Amino acid sequence: MTLEKILSDFKKIVSVDAFSGGRDGKVFFLSHYHSDHRPGLYEGWNKGQIVCSDLTGKFLRKLCKINGESVLTADENCWYDCFSDFEFCTHDANHCPGAYMFLFKYKHKKILHTGDFRLNKSIEKWLIQNKPYDYVIADDTYYSAKGIYDFPSQESCIKKAVRIACANKDKEIFIGIYTLGKEKLLCAVSEALSCPIYVPDKMRKCFKIQDLKYITSDKKITNIYAYGMGYFSSEWFFFNPDNHVVIIPTGWQGTFSYNEHYHYIPYSEHCSSNEFKRFLDIVLPAYVYGHVSKLMLAR
Ligand SMILES: [Zn+2]
Repeated sequence: MTLEKILSDFKKIVSVDAFSGGRDGKVFFLSHYHSDHRPGLYEGWNKGQIVCSDLTGKFLRKLCKINGESVLTADENCWYDCFSDFEFCTHDANHCPGAYMFLFKYKHKKILHTGDFRLNKSIEKWLIQNKPYDYVIADDTYYSAKGIYDFPSQESCIKKAVRIACANKDKEIFIGIYTLGKEKLLCAVSEALSCPIYVPDKMRKCFKIQDLKYITSDKKITNIYAYGMGYFSSEWFFFNPDNHVVIIPTGWQGTFSYNEHYHYIPYSEHCSSNEFKRFLDIVLPAYVYGHVSKLMLAR
């Protein structure tokens, strides 16, 4: 049977990060809880069963009101036999909390779906162990043949954020966040200053579900405040006083400081171009399809 025919059959029984048009017998997989990976999923959705991590399952049940019986949580690095000729395994994707990559074995072909991910040593080891691959659907957010989307490691960005926070520990420290993601940076800053971080009510839901002890709803007990990126508008930069410092983990290439108060750090939860090239070197000679570019990247 050709790979093309196997992929066509595979898509009839498996849906990854897509939830519209469900049909009987189809198994749904959710790589992580970011909203752009949940098209078609709505409160009370009930078209089948969703396989995901334990934490993503909690988000689904508590935030998306998905019936618990529809959520199947899979342990990391375990192979699961679903039905004849179909198995799957997961691995932490080093993206937002709860993010998984999925490896499927279907009709003797291996299909890897990375979801959003950032390559690290643990993923590299897992990918090498499970070689070879036949078809790969990959998060190519910052991949460019010219390698222009390059940025430093998460570890060095976290160190920089901690350095800025420690140098300004007597000021009010503001950090830009998403509702899900950037937790590692927040945790490091909180630990370095031995101080909790205030997060406003409407952004606290995902933090509460993760049970993160360094998050507080009490502004009076801290001088570190995390707000959504939209909070830091251009007016805010002009009109706020000098006794503060702002750290914005941008998620992409740009790294600059407006002045001593405003620091943009390229803290990303996706692969840089060079990391993605290393990923390609590992998974080749599989067919590699770019989930973001919608292009066949390699064979
Ligand atoms: Zn994501």
